[in-house]
Amino acid sequence: QEEENRFRNEHGIKAVGRHIPPALKDFSDLTVRYNVPQALVDTVTQCGYSEPTPVQRQAMACMLEDRQIVACAPTGSGKTAAFIVPLLHTLGTHQGGPRALILCPTRELAHQIYREALRLSASTQLRVTVVKNLKESKVKEREATFRKSDIVISTPNRLCYLLNQDQVNISLEKVRWLIIDEADKLFEGSSEQESDFRQQLEQIMCRCGPKRLIAMFSATHTPPVARWSRRHLRGLVNVTVGHRNA
Ligand code: ADP
Ligand code: MG
Repeated sequence: QEEENRFRNEHGIKAVGRHIPPALKDFSDLTVRYNVPQALVDTVTQCGYSEPTPVQRQAMACMLEDRQIVACAPTGSGKTAAFIVPLLHTLGTHQGGPRALILCPTRELAHQIYREALRLSASTQLRVTVVKNLKESKVKEREATFRKSDIVISTPNRLCYLLNQDQVNISLEKVRWLIIDEADKLFEGSSEQESDFRQQLEQIMCRCGPKRLIAMFSATHTPPVARWSRRHLRGLVNVTVGHRNA
């Protein structure tokens, strides 16, 4: 335990919660501890990631043990791979669903996440898609693509717009992991009483199965995220890397 804390300190990781999984010593821990296929670890290394970043060490371990987290680490610290790699392993084989949903504030960001997911999923059969603009005529196609995807990336707006189309019949029931990326931005300026994002999130969560887990990622600690996560995430682990700004 003490040694574990020392290791976290050395890497600037702060983790708060009960029974926190040990941080990864290196990427091969993924195989040793969590049975992550060697091919997936090889892809990670081939991406040029020789060592996990601090947030990856702690967040990957938590997600691979089905722990809900709020992970706060500076911009550019590899938060995307921190959630993509555990998803790729946990989802296993291609089944559609979708079984993982990634929410982020902008389309640009959705595409960045998509590119990272494509690179990292090279050794898997999993399908990743971004929810795109909807043209009436394409609604049925969207529906089929959505169902065949294992991982869906979207802004809350796009996803809710799609969910609310009359002719669309899509389900989030198989969603196991809901990732909220740039949570600080999404919750920004959304008051407790009335806010589009909070309503959208509620709508999305209601449609997910009862066993769904949530992981939130952001660059800054903000009170709305802290309050919301305390209220909604059971067994929460708070992971913080570097300074606690904001
Ligand atoms: P964040 O979401 O924390 O702002 P990103 O996930 O966008 O950061 O990653 C920033 C950059 O770091 C990307 O170019 C990504 O490919 C790279 N990266 C991610 N993980 C590692 C790693 N373990 N080693 C080296 N580079 C990495
Ligand atoms: Mg990011």
